[in-house]
Amino acid sequence: MGLLEGKTGLIFGVANERSIAWHIAKNAAAQGATCAFTHLPGEKMEGRVRRALENGELGDAWLRPCDVSSDDDLDALFAAAKEDLGRLDFVVHSVAYADREYLKAGRFAETPREVFTQALDISAYTLVAIANRARELMPDGGSILALSYYGAEKATPGYNVMGVAKSALESAARYLAAELGESKIRVNSLSAGPCRTLSAMAVGGIDVMLDRMEKTAPLRRNIETDEVGKAAVYLLSDLSSGVTGETHHVDAGYNAVAA
Ligand code: NAD
Repeated sequence: MGLLEGKTGLIFGVANERSIAWHIAKNAAAQGATCAFTHLPGEKMEGRVRRALENGELGDAWLRPCDVSSDDDLDALFAAAKEDLGRLDFVVHSVAYADREYLKAGRFAETPREVFTQALDISAYTLVAIANRARELMPDGGSILALSYYGAEKATPGYNVMGVAKSALESAARYLAAELGESKIRVNSLSAGPCRTLSAMAVGGIDVMLDRMEKTAPLRRNIETDEVGKAAVYLLSDLSSGVTGETHHVDAGYNAVAA
């Protein structure tokens, strides 16, 4: 009997087989979950995500377009999920965006208003927008998980406006946890160490982050993206039934020590 047997989850953020969301989905499916997915609108994006799902043996999964910055897209997505899936037991928010031009060390102070607003909207506000729609489909409770990074807690060269967005994301998760707890809906953040994904490559200094982790993290190594997937299963399953409003680090212990 898998840890997520009989549970259905909606996963935002698969772009390819390197995506953290893909690794979460693979581990969740291995534990018996039925996973449904979204992709950025457009045939090309759909094809790319479908190929990634096929390579993860998730080829038959429910897949719908959704640009999370659009309320209309979110409304249409959740209406379709209600119709086709009926209810949800978990939701994974593994989505972030900021103009890469401003993800370079030494450029945070230059962040223009519209770059800041867009990064905060897509990377943080959407957790609120998604949770508010998902709760209707969670009559018996559920688990909502957001992906964060240590740059939420400490200024990290090159992470810039994304660090500010991740602080807002983690805070939003706590506020949602406080409000949705009475509906038995848990909301947590998973703060992952650096993984070589499409998004990570857009952040200046990813190689420096990986090198620093290897030298200073208690485990003296970087994490595997699969380890994020495994920890996510814990947070999505009843194993973590008493855990909400938490930021759980999967970073080889990096956050626990002074570099
Ligand atoms: P990724 O590029 O594989 O995934 C990012 C996803 O965000 C993509 O699927 C992309 O399509 C989606 N996205 C961006 N804008 C969107 C929009 N408007 N509407 C819908 N989807 C949109 O990269 P990843 O590293 O797997 O990132 C997933 C999450 O993990 C992000 O929140 C990221 O900040 C976080 N994270 C990543 C790392 C890392 O080192 N890779 C570390 C900690 C946290």
